[in-house]
Amino acid sequence: MDLGIKGKRALVCAASKGLGRGCAEALAEAGVDLVINARGAEALNKTAEEIVAKYGVNVTPVAADITTDAGRDAVLKALGGQADILVNNAGGPPPGKWTDWSRDDFIKAIDANMLTAVALMQALVPGMMERGWGRVVNITSQSVRTPIAILGLSNTARAGLTGFVAGMSRQVAPNGVIVNNLLPGIHATDRAESLDSGVAKAEGISIEDARKRREQTIPTHSYGTAEDFGATCAFLCSQHARFIVGQNILLDGGASNISM
Ligand code: NAP
Repeated sequence: MDLGIKGKRALVCAASKGLGRGCAEALAEAGVDLVINARGAEALNKTAEEIVAKYGVNVTPVAADITTDAGRDAVLKALGGQADILVNNAGGPPPGKWTDWSRDDFIKAIDANMLTAVALMQALVPGMMERGWGRVVNITSQSVRTPIAILGLSNTARAGLTGFVAGMSRQVAPNGVIVNNLLPGIHATDRAESLDSGVAKAEGISIEDARKRREQTIPTHSYGTAEDFGATCAFLCSQHARFIVGQNILLDGGASNISM
């Protein structure tokens, strides 16, 4: 299927690895030029080189912490202040117990997983509206639909972003800007490995056993992949997504038993 976005330009945040990289690759395959971001320059530059070599699009890597004002300024400068497509992403907050977290922990999580996405939408969506076309995908989590007890910081911050998007997506749709959230369940990335190693350590089992046990809780009996995720993201950024507005799209292999 031709996604109809060849020659558009996208910012994909937190994209040297994992789900962000999956989104960057799928957009590049559709002919989209990219600004990609992550904190670690080495992995980011390598990813940029590999994407250029594979898909022949322009890729500008910007090594910066996207959760800071300086990091966002750096990516916005690389974009010359405008993009057609924005994929918001950042690392997830650490797991813990509800009594563990201080005010500072909550502020940090809300900054990273809610207010960073809001700031980038506020910076880039007005230009998309003026030009009459834009796409935004916010990577959130299945925890928005089925909160995960040990991920209280994530549950809190992502619920806030979801509420914001529910309103703003409907305010910008008349101007051709389509905003949706993509909710990953378990995908085989470094993040999943670190969650599995936490379980393995706590329960005295191997990481492989922790993973196998978790796979059995998913109807597909497998984890998702960055490629699965990226393909869905690219579709939501395509011409064909014109009528999908303000949705929370769950990619979890059926793990959350929600039929409505
Ligand atoms: P990942 O494999 O750990 O990759 C994270 C990517 O984000 C890396 O490129 C990392 O590079 C970059 N990054 C992290 N913090 C950053 C920051 N502050 N500024 C810029 N770049 C940053 O993670 P993932 O599995 O792709 O997960 C992506 C998001 O989806 C996370 O928020 C995660 O909580 C959420 N999620 C994932 C799953 C899953 O199963 N994988 C499930 C539910 C939700 P640097 O470290 O070099 O910055």
